[in-house]
Amino acid sequence: MLQYPNLEQALKYHFGYDNFRPGQRQVIEDALQNRDLMVVMPTGGGKSLCFQLPALMKQGLTIVVSPLIALMQDQVEALRNNNISATFLNSSLNAYQVRSREEAILNGRVRLLYVAPERLLSERFLPFLDLVNEKVGISIFAIDEAHCVSEWGHDFRPEYRQLKSLRQRYPHIPVLALTATATDRVRADIIQQLGLKQPSIHLASFNRQNLYYEVRPKSKQAYAELLELLRDTEGSAIIYCLTRKKVEELTFKLQKDKIAALPYHAGLPDEERSKNQTRFIRDDVRVIVATIAFGMGINKPDVRLVVHFDIPRNLESYYQESGRAGRDGEPSRCTLFFSFGDIKTIEWSIDQKTDPQEQLIARQQLRQVIDYAEGTDCRRTIQLGYFGERFAGNCGNCDNCRYPKPMQDWTIEAMKFLSCVARCKERFGMLHIIDVLRGAKKDKIIQYEHDKLSTYGIGKDRTVDEWRMLGRSLLHQGLLEQTSDGYSVLKLNALSWEVMRRQRQVFVSVPVVQKLSVIQESPKFEEAEALLQRLRSLRKQLADEQSVPPYVIFHDSTLKLMVQVQPQTLVEFSQLSGVGSHKLAQYGEKFIAEIRAYRQEKSSHQKPVNLAPSASVVSDTELQTLSLHQQGLSIAEIARKRKLSPGTISTHLEKLIEKNQPVDLNLLFPLEHQQKIWQVLEVLGDIALTPIKEQLGEGYTFDEIRLVREKWRRQNRK
Ligand code: ADP
Ligand code: ZN
Repeated sequence: MLQYPNLEQALKYHFGYDNFRPGQRQVIEDALQNRDLMVVMPTGGGKSLCFQLPALMKQGLTIVVSPLIALMQDQVEALRNNNISATFLNSSLNAYQVRSREEAILNGRVRLLYVAPERLLSERFLPFLDLVNEKVGISIFAIDEAHCVSEWGHDFRPEYRQLKSLRQRYPHIPVLALTATATDRVRADIIQQLGLKQPSIHLASFNRQNLYYEVRPKSKQAYAELLELLRDTEGSAIIYCLTRKKVEELTFKLQKDKIAALPYHAGLPDEERSKNQTRFIRDDVRVIVATIAFGMGINKPDVRLVVHFDIPRNLESYYQESGRAGRDGEPSRCTLFFSFGDIKTIEWSIDQKTDPQEQLIARQQLRQVIDYAEGTDCRRTIQLGYFGERFAGNCGNCDNCRYPKPMQDWTIEAMKFLSCVARCKERFGMLHIIDVLRGAKKDKIIQYEHDKLSTYGIGKDRTVDEWRMLGRSLLHQGLLEQTSDGYSVLKLNALSWEVMRRQRQVFVSVPVVQKLSVIQESPKFEEAEALLQRLRSLRKQLADEQSVPPYVIFHDSTLKLMVQVQPQTLVEFSQLSGVGSHKLAQYGEKFIAEIRAYRQEKSSHQKPVNLAPSASVVSDTELQTLSLHQQGLSIAEIARKRKLSPGTISTHLEKLIEKNQPVDLNLLFPLEHQQKIWQVLEVLGDIALTPIKEQLGEGYTFDEIRLVREKWRRQNRK
């Protein structure tokens, strides 16, 4: 067994990463102490590493129980690309392959074995397991997707239930259970069902900082917005729809608009479905349009956009599905298109349910989704609150935090609306009320003589959509009720009367039109882009040669680091995060050669004059600071790491902003501070730091003022 001076070095050597993700280190330390463990981390949290690294540091074979063949193959491929001897046994292998793998295991040549529970516990396999334990030893049983053991989970698999017998058969071998399931009940069930002994429990935060959450109205322009989103997204995207039919229609439309998209749903023949999935994973197509059936068992870490084109079933599924974006920790976007029409469809399907209890739960869940979509608070606060996790709000990375919706006083309109409900004797639904307000000449109105009401036609100045927004908001704020008998008749309550008597004001948040470009504040460098494209093609070519997905070779983040640092030697290359010992040997020269070729071509083409000011040269030391900044380090941390003073680092960042490099102030300073400083600059103009600080009062640092000022200057220079 290799000895490492510390865990970080083992991590770098085998996996190429510089730092552990939150929680990983503690889990690994506990695993090395042979403790039972229960690990709850969100998707993308980095669960696999929690047993993979101990597997390499402990004696014996680590057995990983995994429910899906696709998942096993994926992980084994990724491990082999780091020269870690891992293998799987499942039904896709013939008898000969199985025998030779078993032999390799008994000879101690395998560190990790992936296997499905039904095979592991079969009559034929158990004696083999005993033999393995005797000859090479079993170091850990790692139970991946452990929530499959629980009937309360969304993915119950009866064969997982039998796993408890492992505990009885091998009482001294530690069991490590892993899941991304967020509910308490399932967690408790896992511990009990697997018979974990005083497990050390690790519960990571469910906040996925790199994901940008937004909700957009599903208006007539929704499809055009979707196209724009897809065109502005660099990398893969998943689009979820509610039905197979919608999947087919949307895929067809996108293909006609020259977007490389494929469908995925349960109605497709198995072969076509798995072919589409593989083409997506290997980056042959960029977009997959799917029903919610898609995603389980997909480890693709570089999905940059997840769109829900239809309303999700509940908040937990929304969190899990949207969470398939950005597992690699890179910035990614989650967009939900929300329409009242969809709510109607769901309400209808809830009405079809026969069990009243089920109906009740479904209604509650729908309500929570609507609350999320219509909410004006930080999206993260709402989501995490749903999982019982408190989040202070203002994350700076959701639509509500970035573009707070202006609240408008709609008291007069609300009075009109509510009194129209009263005049119609609380016997009609929203559409009819709006028709009356807008003075529509429909048969139903004539029939009930609602054209004679005093409220007929008093709302012509607002559109149907505006009235509907108000109506929803009144319901949402509890100022109006709606029956749940399938007819959605509007009813007044005590608060409605307060509004009508002018005892209560009504504010509604008005949607603002968003510009897409804001998520990537820094304009892209065409040059950097060109190099990135070249490295991507090289990666794709290497991946195709081995029939593996491109991310198995290097993650996007590592390619981006290559573009920034442009390493010239193997030593420089080895320092990039994502480059371990094996990948260095395997791919280092090839990527360095590509970078070199690119630099040579560039310098032979470059005209010495005519350098745009924005492209002024970034020095090496500034680049190093930038790279650490992009890994999320604070100014103080960068200073410590680089053995430079914080002032120097701050100057680097200032220069980087000046040179139009992607410095993300949100990683450094609270949003409120930035906004305040920005406001002061707007009023006072470009002045020295001290008067700005005086204007702001206590609690502001020179660093933040300086950097925000530089950003402001850039913006005003354009
Ligand atoms: P989970 O199973 O929790 O969804 P994975 O184990 O698949 O997450 O990890 C998600 C991604 O993050 C993977 O692509 C993995 O290679 C990467 N990753 C894991 N740990 C680290 C780390 N310490 N530093 C950088 N990347 C990591
Ligand atoms: Zn937010």
